[in-house]
Amino acid sequence: MGREEREAGSRKQGGSGAGGPASPCAACKLLRRRCAQGCIFAPYFPADEPQKFATVHKVFGASNVSKLLQELPMGHRSDAVSSLVYEAMARVRDPVYGCVAAISSLQRHIQLLQSQLAFAQAELVRLHLHHAAASHAVTDTAADADGKMMLSLDVLLDHALWSC
Ligand SMILES: [Zn+2]
Repeated sequence: MGREEREAGSRKQGGSGAGGPASPCAACKLLRRRCAQGCIFAPYFPADEPQKFATVHKVFGASNVSKLLQELPMGHRSDAVSSLVYEAMARVRDPVYGCVAAISSLQRHIQLLQSQLAFAQAELVRLHLHHAAASHAVTDTAADADGKMMLSLDVLLDHALWSC
């Protein structure tokens, strides 16, 4: 880092003074090239967020990112950059799985929630049946009602059948 900072300092061409050329985007600054008007990186990698481009460059390479952006319509480039930054940061954090770690963890979570949902729905159906059977049984004798509420669904269904 120290060497880069020294080199960047020795090449400083102004730009900080009022009326000077606009400061280069984070990409051009890192690549040490002039940030020409219409620079493909400039709208998505502002100078005040240097880490975004540094990470994307490290993982995907500047020229691949540039090619990818050029092939996309303007309206999709911002989202593409957001996803590239997310993927790159995940890859730096976890060199083995990258953002796949998050994806598979979320997929496991979805599976768990789906099985819990299926269980809850089955339980709901069971309780509806139980309630229907119990209320049917209660029409016989009010005195038996409390005891019947505690009985299993099978017993209640049997009773309901007999009382019909
Ligand atoms: Zn630039």
